[in-house]
Order: sequence, then C-alpha cells, then structure tokens
Amino acid sequence: MKGKSITEISNRIEEIALDLTSQKSIAGSAGEIKIADKLYGIMAEMDYYKKHPENLYFVPVKNDSLGRKIVIAEMNGEMKKSAKTVVLIGHIDTVGISDYGSLQEYAIQPYELAKRLGDLKLPPEVREDLESGEYLFGRGLFDMKSGDAISMAIMEYISKDIENFEGNIIFGAVCDEENNSIGMLNFVPKLNELKKEKGYNYLAMIDTDYMAPAYPGDLNKYVYVGTVGKIMPTFFVVGKETHVGEPYDGIDPNQIVAQLTKRINLNPEFCDFAGGETTLPPITLKQRDLKPEYSAQIAKTSILLFNMATHEMTPDQVLEKMTIVGQECFQQVVDELNARYKKYCELIGRKHKQLPWVARTMTYDELYANVKNELGDKLDGMIEDYLLGLNKDSSLDIRDKQVKMAEYLHNLWSDQNPVVIVYFSAPYYPHIYVEGKRDKEKLLISAVTDAIAATAPNYDYKLVQKKFLPCISDLSYAAAPKEQAVVTKLKINTPGYGVIYELPIEDMQELDLPVVNIGAFGKDAHKYTERIEKKYTFQVTPDLVYKTIKNILK
Ligand SMILES: [Zn+2]
Repeated sequence: MKGKSITEISNRIEEIALDLTSQKSIAGSAGEIKIADKLYGIMAEMDYYKKHPENLYFVPVKNDSLGRKIVIAEMNGEMKKSAKTVVLIGHIDTVGISDYGSLQEYAIQPYELAKRLGDLKLPPEVREDLESGEYLFGRGLFDMKSGDAISMAIMEYISKDIENFEGNIIFGAVCDEENNSIGMLNFVPKLNELKKEKGYNYLAMIDTDYMAPAYPGDLNKYVYVGTVGKIMPTFFVVGKETHVGEPYDGIDPNQIVAQLTKRINLNPEFCDFAGGETTLPPITLKQRDLKPEYSAQIAKTSILLFNMATHEMTPDQVLEKMTIVGQECFQQVVDELNARYKKYCELIGRKHKQLPWVARTMTYDELYANVKNELGDKLDGMIEDYLLGLNKDSSLDIRDKQVKMAEYLHNLWSDQNPVVIVYFSAPYYPHIYVEGKRDKEKLLISAVTDAIAATAPNYDYKLVQKKFLPCISDLSYAAAPKEQAVVTKLKINTPGYGVIYELPIEDMQELDLPVVNIGAFGKDAHKYTERIEKKYTFQVTPDLVYKTIKNILK
C-alpha cells in the first residue's frame, strides 16, 4: 500500500468518533436521523464518494413512524473486477443519557466530560482509568461510535488507493440496535437485492461493536467469530380460580410459575454448550399474574418469560425442553398440593380426598390445533381481526400483545381446565455458530486467525479468538436456521407472528453469512462510566479489521 500504514490512521478514527459522538442519537429518537445525516456527510467528503456518489445512499426504514433511515456505502476495488465482498455493519444509535445525572449536557463531549467526572465519587477502577489518560469517556463512544469510526476510516484509507484494491466492501450504518434492530432488519433484505442487482458474492460480515473484559481484571482482548443467540420461552399458565376461603378448590397459577422459576432460573442445566463455550443460564424477564384488580379471588392465569441464550439449540429444541420442564413442574405442584391438602385434612379432622388436578402442558401450536378443531376455518379470521385490533393499541408492547393473543386463543377453547402453554415471546435472535465446516466459515476463521497472528507481535495485548460474541447484537440477523421445519415451529409458536412481530427470515436464510465482531475495547457500556481504551481502540482494532478484510478478499 502507498501512503500511511493502517496504524497511522488513529488520529482520523478519533476525530470521526468524537464527531459522531457529538450528535446525540438515542434509540427511538429523531437523533437517529441526524446521526445518519452526519455519518453520510463524513463519508460524502471522501474523494471516492465525490467520484462515485451513487455508491453512498440512504435506505428508508419501512413503516417507521419516526422516518429513520440507514446509510449504505458501497466501495468497489478497481484493481480488477471481482465479486468478492465483505459486509461491514455498525449501529449509530445509543442508549439514553439520564444515567449521567448532573453531567448529562457533557455526555456527548468526551473531553469536557473528563474534566468534570473527576469531581464525582467514582469507583476506584473508573478513577484509575480516568486519571491514567488512556481512556476516553462519553455516551456512545464505546457502544459503538468508535467502532463506526474504525470502519469509516478504514474505507477512507482503502479508497485512497482504490486502483490497487481488489474486491468490494459494503458498509451498513444502522439505527435502532439498542431497541428492535429495525435498521439491521431493513439492511438484510437490501443486501440480497444488491447481490441480485450487482452480482456481489458476500463472504463474511464484520461488526465492530464493543468488546469488554469477560470478568473483572480480565486482561484478554477478544475477537468473536460467531455470535450467541437469544430466545424467550414463555409460560402461559392457566390455573383454576377460587375464593381465598376455599383455597383447595382452586389451583394457583402463581404456584406453578414459582415452581418453574425455581427450576429454570439461573440453572446451568439449561446452558447451551458448543464449540467449547457455554452460554449464560436463563433468567426471568417477567413473572406476573394477569389478574388486573385486587380481590379475594386468586388469579386464573399467570405468565413467566425467560431470556435464554443459545449457541446451538434451535427453537424447536428449546420448545421441546421447556414443554417437558413445564410438565414436570406442574406435576410437582399437583403432588405437593395433594400432600399439603392431606396434612390439612388431618389437622382439621376432615376426610381426605385426592384433589382433581391433572398436570398437562402443551405448546402454543397445540392449543391452536385444539381450538381450530372446534371452531374450524373461521378461527383464522377471528385471530386476524383480533391481532389487527391489538396492533392499534399503542399502550401495549409486543410482549403484552402476545400475552393478550394467547389469552384470547385460550379463552376460545371449550376446555378451561388448568394447563401450561409454552410459546416464544419476541424478539428472537438466532445464534451464529461458525463451526468451520463450510467454505465461507473456513475462510473467515483463517482470515481472522491470520490477522491476529500478524497483529499480536506488534502490541502488548493478549489477543484471544472466541466462538461466540456473548452479547446480543445485530450480527444475529446475518443468518437464520436453515431447516424449514425449525422455522415453521418458531413461527407457529410465536403468538401474533406475521402481524405484531415478524423477522425477514427468508432474507436472513438467503444471506447466510458467517460473522465476526472485532470491537473497540473499553468498559461499562450502558453506564455513565462508558469508556474506550484509546490505544487498543484507535490502533489495534483497526489493524485487525483491516487485515481481516484483506485476508478475506485475498
Ligand atoms: Zn452496541
């Protein structure tokens, strides 16, 4: 390469990172439009885009009330014509700034913020990092505007010698990653369109989202080839209501839910293991009964929602596992209630009779089949009307709408005996396990391995390659389960799928890319102490990203 070496673009990366950070862009706000404009403006200044303005453009997000848009920058090497293409992604939204308290106005001005942070009572590690001068603080700087700046500066660097560059790069700067990933979900179908239109052959997707220590004191720096997935098994539990004066005449759905929580919550039995790495165990995200008022009647229904991480487990497998566990827990509750009732009868001298409860658990699609049996084809029209009505209610979020849908369907069933129904709450993020079996996977793994090997000797950092980015990101949408039966199982067990929640699954299947996250290094994403370590972020990350791109396109 002519000119500066890649390690010498550090200043430019910092400049872009600060510029992007100075534009507040909280997910779900109009700032997301302004940051897209700003990013577009920076790219448009590059000589390459002055010469090829058609390669830099916005794509509006479909059906978005805020009118948000993503920015796409294509870059075509001119050494010789090549279809080989690397896709880069970066999100340009951030979380809110209320965590900065009295320093909110400085949250997006890193140097001003640094002057004032010292006056606060900071945790010792934060103070140490602040006083070292090796860190920069600011909202979005770590998650992930420095990452965006790295991709942009690398493209600028490559563009200056585009005559000697072979292959293509497509950068998608996307909105809404911190909320619903609608930016990425609009980018994926666009990539498939571009492939058809221009004949691009996508080889891999690179994200530069943040990378943090895996535990306090962890000195390793990670590159993740692949990503964890997330699925949310949900239990809709129907008990039998009764007055508190006759408690054994009913069955309390809260007791079944409690049993399920005790069994599943943070239980390593439900970790998913693949490629030598283990996910975090599941954790509850919601647990409540659905009785709206206070009264002396027990609840009839309750819901329980888990966050579950996956490395290899597919939705149908999760569903099966959760259905088995649901049945076991329900049975335990029935057994325990019988034992307690027996004891109570002895205490008061009443003749004991076995309680009538029969444990049963079914999936949402089984519930649907039961109701369909009774109502026939008119059921589908009823569901559609109900969902359209739900969609008009802006006070409900997607999960609430799904609960309402499950409740509606269950109420249509003639059998109102206690039952546990298992379904999936939105959103769903597929894992991407880059096993190394397919050609593209092999290519990416060796590109990253070589990049690390060539970079490590130049720095004092311990670079470690891992299989799964441990936090949920847009990368999940670069692929989807391939088996149609699995996808169908997912769809028919996600209440309201297609009306209140939907993924471009066919587009994700078609894109089907191995992914890597090569992130800026820092600490405390989503906290007011969010910060990047400058040296790693402005020197090592770009070096790794650049070499990985070159290795893939070689
Ligand atoms: Zn992020």
